[in-house]
Amino acid sequence: MSLTVTVLGATGSIGRSTTDLLKQHPDRFRVGALVGGRDAAALGQLARELNAEFAALADESAGPSLREVLSGSGIPCGAGEGAVLEAVAREADIVVAAVSGAAGLRPTHAALRLGRTVALANKESLVCAGDAFMRDAARYGARLLPVDSEHNALAQALGDGRVSDVAKMTITASGGPFRTWEMQRIAGASPEEAANHPTWSMGMKINIDSASLMNKGLELIEAHHLFGIEHERLDVIVHPQSVIHGLVFWHDGAVTAGLAMPDMRVPIAHCLGLGDRLTIARGRPLDLAAVGSLTFEAADETRFPCLRIARAALRDGGAAPTVMNAANEIAVAAFIKGAIPFYGIAELVERACTRFAGIHRAAPADVDEALAIDAEVRRWSEHAVPQMQVAG
Ligand code: MG
Repeated sequence: MSLTVTVLGATGSIGRSTTDLLKQHPDRFRVGALVGGRDAAALGQLARELNAEFAALADESAGPSLREVLSGSGIPCGAGEGAVLEAVAREADIVVAAVSGAAGLRPTHAALRLGRTVALANKESLVCAGDAFMRDAARYGARLLPVDSEHNALAQALGDGRVSDVAKMTITASGGPFRTWEMQRIAGASPEEAANHPTWSMGMKINIDSASLMNKGLELIEAHHLFGIEHERLDVIVHPQSVIHGLVFWHDGAVTAGLAMPDMRVPIAHCLGLGDRLTIARGRPLDLAAVGSLTFEAADETRFPCLRIARAALRDGGAAPTVMNAANEIAVAAFIKGAIPFYGIAELVERACTRFAGIHRAAPADVDEALAIDAEVRRWSEHAVPQMQVAG
């Protein structure tokens, strides 16, 4: 019996790793819908290769190109928000939610409302609207499987254990490209230097978030919602080899950890296996003797203020993570364009958090409210960027 897998964000980094695994196990998986952003050629080719049941692009204007690429294939397709929701609504045993950014909220939530098993890679769903997502997952009987490597490692380390028996959960950070840099040098870093990730190969936005350690901040918030664990029991440690991804410290002193090569196919395979262990072709096995030593350092919130800001947002709760995430997306885009320096990211995010703390207090009740706050903070942040340039 084969399982039908739908992939939201099929042409992105996680989507590619997912479809690579689906190709390796044609007897086990059928490909339901594939959803992409705007790249008609890439999505069309993927849909043909995998013989997908449906293909959709979020960008409505790319519809004609997608139809052209798929003409003669017999694969139905569409473009725009309606087509994306149609893709989500199709029958699927597993939905891999790997659209990046706030754009992933609606399709991910739609899958959850259908009671699907959702392999969640879109961390913004939990950062922007975590309370609503977890509430609705329980309400509609949806199962959330963590794709993010740290959370997947935590889930495996937790096993059947109870979160009430956990003293602390720790996620690891590679430290990013600036791990050993002095603050002054980080201040002058270029987007190319920031995007140069030492251990993982990912998209541009997440690479910058890794350099600022904002990614770890987002992941702490993600862990808080996924495991129902409060901020006092969540921690980050820098581990440059990226071999251990998550550790569970138990009340009795035992520690269990999730280890793997830094390859996103490992956590994705764990999700797709639904309890079975898939064999991954071409995956490099973890050779501990070759790695030699595993080292650890405390995370430095002075050189990496985004981690401090994110911890504060997690502690404050309510709408603070929603505001922080929106400001960060604009700040990272501004940094990539060269409009603000690297520490301008933390500065803009902190200013947004301060500015909106008194305006939006409560956690968004639903996705609409989360997206409304997101849009408001983005508008404000876009406006704040040129002012920062003048000030800087
Ligand atoms: Mg991660």
